[in-house]
Amino acid sequence: MKDLAKDFPILAQKVYGKRLVYLDNAATTQKPNSVIDTISDYYRTDNSNIHRGVHYLSEVSSERYEEARKKVSEFIGARNPSEVTFTSGTTGSINQVARSLGPSLRGNEVLVTGVEHHSNIVPWQLAGAKVKAIPMDEDCNMLIDSIEITNRTKLIAIAHVSNVLGCVNEIKEITEIAKDHDIPVLVDAAQSIQHLPLDVKDIGCDFLAFSGHKMYASTGVGVLYTSDRFSDITPAIGGGGMIDKVNLDKTTYLDPPLRFEAGTPDIAGAISISAAIDHMQKIGMDKIKKHEHDIYSYSREKLLEMDNVTVYGNTNEMCGAVSFNLDKIHHYDTGLILDKMGVAVRTGHHCAQPLMRSLGIEGTVRASFALYNTKEDVDMLIEGIKKVEMMYK
Ligand code: PMP
Repeated sequence: MKDLAKDFPILAQKVYGKRLVYLDNAATTQKPNSVIDTISDYYRTDNSNIHRGVHYLSEVSSERYEEARKKVSEFIGARNPSEVTFTSGTTGSINQVARSLGPSLRGNEVLVTGVEHHSNIVPWQLAGAKVKAIPMDEDCNMLIDSIEITNRTKLIAIAHVSNVLGCVNEIKEITEIAKDHDIPVLVDAAQSIQHLPLDVKDIGCDFLAFSGHKMYASTGVGVLYTSDRFSDITPAIGGGGMIDKVNLDKTTYLDPPLRFEAGTPDIAGAISISAAIDHMQKIGMDKIKKHEHDIYSYSREKLLEMDNVTVYGNTNEMCGAVSFNLDKIHHYDTGLILDKMGVAVRTGHHCAQPLMRSLGIEGTVRASFALYNTKEDVDMLIEGIKKVEMMYK
């Protein structure tokens, strides 16, 4: 693989006089020149509000925005671009579904996995549902045979990939079970969209959520895929751009996607997602998957070789993030020392407190990868960890 980092200007800088080794990609990825240029060019030449204008720039902006929707729809294998809504991010997307489905969830149950991000727990609680986790073993494999579906289970909402452990959940098995019970499935793809080729038809989910900023695009923008099957659900957010007719006593709504896009969206952000998809597709999703798999396996192997390091989670397929702790050294201290060596990792509970409780820990050090990482980056991490251990001897 050629040097993929050279397209990402931020990675050329030094921190504390050291080469920046950026391993905090599960929090957010860096942006390639093509995405940065797309955003600034948009504001330089095309900026205008969409859909409501009759003038030239508004038409150009609207066209670019709708092209972005089409690109996303093809990227995730949707049947129709109208199934793609731009939102503020994964959190925004999941909250939108929670509000739309709210009445059916209230007093009922939402089934999640044991590795969920708080974004896939709290919105269901706010909607008045009880959140129950699918049991998992000590390596964090879902125990699919132990799934308990009752007549109160109204939704299954599962992470495709854990943002903490990198374990890839068997979502297709879940959608098949859900189909048998006619229960909708939401997939949180925040940590898979940038790592794995993905097809919503193949997965068989009804909703899929992800964020632009974790896939090389802007912050503040994301996607919610809503299957045609749910095209008539009540919009979660009301306002301009989503209505058919407004009367003081009653309003009717447009069909999707506009139905779910009240107000002015993040137009440049949506277009940045399109540019990010172009960037990934130029390399090829299969190549990205293979390259990252090599880096990922190498990192686990190196970490597992270390005597006083505990690595968490061990499932059949893993990608993206690896979490660990050093014996008797607080994760926060490890992260701080690694930072001074130019190695950027994240520490803490990673917005997954129920998972931390299951593992019996307060937090981890998490290294997470993107297409531009290399084995040398992993070597720097391992060297850094050895130095941390030396300091505590
Ligand atoms: N779900 C998962 C699995 C995540 O990793 C994250 C971000 N860490 C989110 C949801 C929330 O994403 P955002 O903050 O971009 O809305």
